[in-house]
Parts: sequence; C-alpha cells; structure tokens
Amino acid sequence: MDARSLDLKTCTLDAHRPLVIVDVDEVLAQFMAGFGAFVARHGFELRVDRFALFQNIYRPGETEHLDLIAGRALFDDFFRDGGEDLEPAAGAADALADLSLNANVVILTNAPEHGRQTRARWLKTHGFDYPLIINSGPKGPSAADLAGRVKAPAVFVDDLLPQLESVAASAPAVGRFQMVADERLRPLAPSAPDRHARIDLWPDLKVAIREALALDGR
Ligand SMILES: [Mg+2]
Repeated sequence: MDARSLDLKTCTLDAHRPLVIVDVDEVLAQFMAGFGAFVARHGFELRVDRFALFQNIYRPGETEHLDLIAGRALFDDFFRDGGEDLEPAAGAADALADLSLNANVVILTNAPEHGRQTRARWLKTHGFDYPLIINSGPKGPSAADLAGRVKAPAVFVDDLLPQLESVAASAPAVGRFQMVADERLRPLAPSAPDRHARIDLWPDLKVAIREALALDGR
C-alpha cells in the first residue's frame, strides 16, 4: 500500500460532522516566504514575479532562472532541513480551531514523503494538530474518498487552481475555496472565482466555510 493510501486508511472521521480538507503551503504556511529565506541562505534569490516555483530561483544578478533540476534539488533540501522555518498564515490556526469544534479537519498536502516528519512537527508546533495525509499529484481522488465518509457537507481549501479543478472533477459536491497566503503571490495566482470562491484572509474564509458547512446555529 502506498503512503497516501495508508494515510487515508488510518484517518478516522466522525461521519456525522461536516468536513474541512485543507492544504498546507500558501494556505496554512507562508511557503514562498520560508522557501525564499532558505534559497537566500544557499546564495540564490527567489524572485516572486510570476506564479511559479522553480522558474523563480536565480543566481544573484542573473536574468535566466536556475535550471529546473537545481531548483528541484533546493526544494527537496528545503523539505529535508528547512521545512520548520515556515511562518504560519495569519489567523489560520484560530480559524481551524474554531471550525474543528463542529467539523472534521483533515490536512491534505503534496509535500514530498521525505519531508513527512518535519511537516508533522511543524503542524503540531503551530497548532494544526489534525490528521495529515501526504498526497501526490491531483487531490481530487483523495478529497472524494474523504468526503464519501461523512454524511454532511465538505469543503476543500487550496491555493492552486489545478487542485481546485481536480476536486471539482472528482468530488463535485465538495465546496471549493482558493486561498493564497503570500501577499506578493495574490495578484499573480491564476483564479476562477466563478467556479471556486477566492478568499485570501482566514477570518473571512472561516465565515464562508461555516456558511458552506451550515455550521451557524449549531
Ligand atoms: Mg499549496
């Protein structure tokens, strides 16, 4: 059984409570800020001038980005030994703590498997002590699996449009919200607000999620 299937299998949900499925990077964690600091410590620059990752890493003074293999290596190293330096997104822990009083909360991240322990520690340290599922590739099938276990509404929160589209395709009944934590990325992030509600601030997002889950009055 692969890691994702094992995570799904060991994740227990209360079938009578609604479900919040939430991404980590740029949703609970200030990924670009943390990765940028890590990249700088290795002598490179992360320039946030487009919504991309490896194409944004440069040697200082150069106009051509670092080759993608070197970028990928920095990314893998970050999850190995820089992943605990992330700042949490403002208001995220409070919002999830509030939602978790009435709903299941599950964290669905595409972190590499070698970053599991670091990621799990980071989440606990910052008040996100919820079941963790390490996914890879499109998140729709995992979201459909989880949502199928509750007899109540479910929502999914991610910063990436392709992941929102994946959930729309695999689990169309799941409510979808796009959230981008990094202020520099917000204007660059591809969005489709008519298909997936876009709310970048956790206090506002929490209100919209409570509404989507029909939690008010509970
Ligand atoms: Mg993300």
